[in-house]
Amino acid sequence: MNLNEIPVTEVRGIGGQKAEELQALGITRVAHLLEYYPFRYEDYSIRDLTQVKDGEKITVQGKIMSEPVLQRYGRKNRLSCKVVIDHFFVTAVWFNRPFLKDQLAPGREIVLTGKWDQRRHQMTVSDSEFPDRGTSKTGTLQPVYSVGGSLTQHFMRKATAQALTQYSAMVSEIIPAELLRKYRLLPRRRAMEIIHRPQGTEDGNEARRRMVYEELFLFQLKMHAFRAITRNRADGLAQQVDLPKVRAFVRGLPFTLTPSQKKVIAEILQDMQEPYTMNRLLQGDVGAGKTVVAAAALYATVTAGCQGALMVPTEILAEQHNRSLTAMFEPYGLQVALLTGSTTARQRRELLASLQMGMLDILVGTHALIQEDVFFRKLGLVVTDEQHRFGVNQRSILRRKGMNPDVLTMTATPIPRTLAITAFGDLDVSTLRELPKGRKPIKTYWVRHEMFDRVLGFIRREADEGRQAYVICPLIEESEKLDVQNAIDVHVQLQQAFPDLKVGLLHGRMTGAEKDEIMHRFKDGEIHTLVSTTVIEVGVDVPNATLMVVYDADRFGLSQLHQLRGRVGRGEHQSFCVLIADPKTEVGKERMQAMTDTTDGFEIARRDLELRGPGDFFGTKQSGLPDFRIADMMVDFETMELARDDAAELVARQEFWTAAEYIPLRDFLQRELIFDGDIMD
Ligand code: ADP
Ligand code: MG
Repeated sequence: MNLNEIPVTEVRGIGGQKAEELQALGITRVAHLLEYYPFRYEDYSIRDLTQVKDGEKITVQGKIMSEPVLQRYGRKNRLSCKVVIDHFFVTAVWFNRPFLKDQLAPGREIVLTGKWDQRRHQMTVSDSEFPDRGTSKTGTLQPVYSVGGSLTQHFMRKATAQALTQYSAMVSEIIPAELLRKYRLLPRRRAMEIIHRPQGTEDGNEARRRMVYEELFLFQLKMHAFRAITRNRADGLAQQVDLPKVRAFVRGLPFTLTPSQKKVIAEILQDMQEPYTMNRLLQGDVGAGKTVVAAAALYATVTAGCQGALMVPTEILAEQHNRSLTAMFEPYGLQVALLTGSTTARQRRELLASLQMGMLDILVGTHALIQEDVFFRKLGLVVTDEQHRFGVNQRSILRRKGMNPDVLTMTATPIPRTLAITAFGDLDVSTLRELPKGRKPIKTYWVRHEMFDRVLGFIRREADEGRQAYVICPLIEESEKLDVQNAIDVHVQLQQAFPDLKVGLLHGRMTGAEKDEIMHRFKDGEIHTLVSTTVIEVGVDVPNATLMVVYDADRFGLSQLHQLRGRVGRGEHQSFCVLIADPKTEVGKERMQAMTDTTDGFEIARRDLELRGPGDFFGTKQSGLPDFRIADMMVDFETMELARDDAAELVARQEFWTAAEYIPLRDFLQRELIFDGDIMD
């Protein structure tokens, strides 16, 4: 038996309800629970009050010096008493824990954990223990897990501790001995025990170091093994691209390609013609002209007698691409169709039939396009975006369905090249370096909320010129928790401010059809100003829109702001971006400054990385980088490089595929579905 096969419900204390909530966190097996690492520790070691700063969360030990006082207000209450700690008198305060009153006897020793208020000499207690009854947390580091629903830290601590008690003997090593020695890594079982209940900080760090290496090494191994398999087996399509036809198509475009576009198209066509499976990342700033590159590649696959698929994140985008590809390919007699969640059952049936018979050349759609019951007669090329980046797993699913198309992934989130190569070891990278000539850089301003009247004037001016504007808000509707603008209110405000203009509203809670209708009306110029959440973020192309206003801009990541800004400046007119924000921190101000300083996406990505200090949560969704359980791309970048070299070296060795000592690793690869069955022969 393997911990990956044992249901988590075998752990004592985990029953139906809890199991369901664990499942929401992706935990269904014992292995998942053990590999659900804490993201930090709470330090319960006893501190010296003279060394403590105001506002710190600390643990101290002292003696109760006064009778406790319980005050009630409404349904809430406050319990307090005096405690002497190292000759200091401190007021300890508990909120809503009236039942503790009887235990707070003067003279009794107590350990308090909570937030220190220097001015009032007071502690707001979150946790307390009595040494005369034995303490379990005092002096330890307690793991803090990312939890949701009704799962508490207490439950997670207990559950992992119980899982370790029952199963730690079954935790087996996966990293080869030579690598454990090379980096002096803790054995897996030891590290697993320590990471969930460390004795001290140093201990915890060592366990983390081991697990970070493991995660990155396995990640790299998966990519390199898959690459080795696909590279060594020339079982991709050697597409017989009709180059003269592709050249004619390019000549027929209403503009000349930039040097980068030409170079990148050549790289892609080269790959497609070779008998290996292409797996290429196309990165280029917003507006760099990636769509045309994709179109040329899709056209090329059709000239080779294959079909192409274009997969995008939203229906709006799918619609838009469907329209532009249909127009672009019309003169060449290509059949383009759209498949989304809104396609009716009947349309869908007909569409899938003609797809399978090869009567359709290009299928544009959202997520479900590749999976499920969709079969192509001969799929030559899949173009997708970073959100649907084909992981090793999806690609091997396609392979098992008998399809082995070339894959082109597009991203508008520029990633520094070294980072890209390391994080996407399974991809070749092509980059569009420059924007098409003649683009006027978007003028960007950062203003405070109090200047909103001026922003209104700006919208009015652009409208008078016949131009259109976007106004982006962080939220759909009013929130109790966040004091930021919401789209629904702003929509009402703006419509009142501009009774003669049509103000539209777009957000993620509308149906696909509703969103499409609004987008159409905006595109047709019937709506002048579109108030929206970030649903319009990616790829939307309305050349007549020249003004992008972002409310509470400090709520967004830099790359997201850059994406939003990229929605304007797509036509011949001068465009503007106005960021409305009152950032509270220096970093917040610097981020706004970065946006006004440059419109270069690579530069913005660089500043973004710089401004996120180590230990900051590295929002991988925005960065386009993979999401790890314990590793952090910024902090652990060097480890990632080592892991990459180790994995590449190992995979290149013949023994890796045969020797007994690598069985755990090969089992891992098998579990991760990267083989199509016959590779192990
Ligand atoms: P993105 O890289 O953001 O997907 P698009 O492909 O949408 O960029 O291109 C943005 C706009 O620039 C489109 O309207 C497109 O037709 C136009 N475009 C693309 N390539 C060129 C070029 N070489 N010269 C002029 N305009 C171009
Ligand atoms: Mg190929």
